Amino acid sequence: MEQPPHVVIVPTPGMGHLIPLVELAKRLVLHHHFFVTFIITTDGSPMKHQKAILEALPDAISSIFLPPVSFDDLPEDTKIETRIALSLTRSLPALRDSFKVLAESTRLAALVVDLFGVEAFHVAKEFGVSSYIFYPTTAMSLSLDLYIPELDQKYSCEYRDLPEPVKLPGCVPVHGSDLIDPIQDRKNEAYNMVVYITKKYPLAAGIMVNSFMDLEPGCFKALNEGGEGKPPVYPVGPLIQSGSDGRVDESECLSWLDKQPNESVVYISFGSGGTLSHEQLNELALGLEMCGQRFLWVVRSPHEKAASAAYFSVQSIKDPFDFLPKGFLERTKEVGLVVPSWAPQIQVLSHGSTGGFLTHCGWNSTLESIVHGVPMIAWPLYAEQRMNAVLLADDLKVALRVKVNDKGLVGHKDIANYVRGLIEGEEGNLLRNKVKELKDAAGKALSQEGSSTKSLAEVTQLWKKHQK
Ligand code: UDP
Repeated sequence: MEQPPHVVIVPTPGMGHLIPLVELAKRLVLHHHFFVTFIITTDGSPMKHQKAILEALPDAISSIFLPPVSFDDLPEDTKIETRIALSLTRSLPALRDSFKVLAESTRLAALVVDLFGVEAFHVAKEFGVSSYIFYPTTAMSLSLDLYIPELDQKYSCEYRDLPEPVKLPGCVPVHGSDLIDPIQDRKNEAYNMVVYITKKYPLAAGIMVNSFMDLEPGCFKALNEGGEGKPPVYPVGPLIQSGSDGRVDESECLSWLDKQPNESVVYISFGSGGTLSHEQLNELALGLEMCGQRFLWVVRSPHEKAASAAYFSVQSIKDPFDFLPKGFLERTKEVGLVVPSWAPQIQVLSHGSTGGFLTHCGWNSTLESIVHGVPMIAWPLYAEQRMNAVLLADDLKVALRVKVNDKGLVGHKDIANYVRGLIEGEEGNLLRNKVKELKDAAGKALSQEGSSTKSLAEVTQLWKKHQK
């Protein structure tokens, strides 16, 4: 019997990259009858959670873990994006070896990488296989990435000093200071790395985006009007984690939520890697206490230097509860539940008691909130999160965006107002109605005849035609 065609997926580090790619792999196997192999790069950080996710997948999806690369030579302040990209670049010889074995034993149909994976293109090319990007965030951010090489040539100042907002075709205008984090400092190595990577995007045979047509219609339309030299862009989302990730005991959060009134709780989480400074953590605690609303807070130990401090490790190293204001847990125990490091987010967002989400605007969290119809308070920290906040607050109108004061903090009184406004206020109601419309649109996009389902089918047809 002829073997099914085989797709190789190479994610770069970060749960935010792995989770949607896993969902993509499941669809490729279940709906389109491919075999999938994940080739995983690592810097040697613990892989327990990634392994647990990959091991739970159907038999047609297998994984190869490449030997860890070393970052010992990198200065401590090396940006997260540089580390992520280097994890792949430094793994290329091992990747080539694995690719060779697969090419000899299977019928390879395509290579899929994420937004940092372009260096793997030439490995695929050596074996006559076409490369696709799975872009795990918005069409708007993709539109920026495709424009970065030009932007780099056009201006010499820092983008935050641009007098006018940047107008990406079909998108809401974005102020330069809200553009992606790694291009905010032209002198930083991460800037050159992003320019280098984005220059290679046009070499992809196609770009799949974890968003959907009805969420960003103008932007998708403009991307596909790109003309020659621009790869076709396929909206294939929202692909979100399905069910439990088995990482924590879910019962504490869920049984607590069971006891709260409908849509009364604000859920607070800064994703898998987001951290606040100690001062900011304090303001958040004071704001929550002041507003008197119900809350479920995933708290992580503070970090003074980088908002992405927990990106590679996820867990807090120290006990995060030690950093909360004295007596906070006792004083708020009637209205709040605080959990360390991790919560079963999908279950929380799909629970009827959850009425709002204070989020760092990581794209997976954002999509999860939209899919479950939960309005947001947008508190972006790093990566492309400020652009996501612009999309959510200015364009889609499903979030309130926090303001940072002249001390660089979101103040406790403001936090109290945002939470109250979201759960009880008229504005919160408008956001809730709007996000529920998007929830329906998201469901339609992935239905049998939906736009994202059709779009993925189009890509897989091409793969089946061109398999080696
Ligand atoms: N997540 C979770 N529990 C937590 C924090 C995060 O289950 O306490 C999951 C969340 O559901 C999402 C992912 O981790 O699927 C975070 O991805 P996102 O893109 O939002 O942010 P990142 O972690 O990449 O910054």
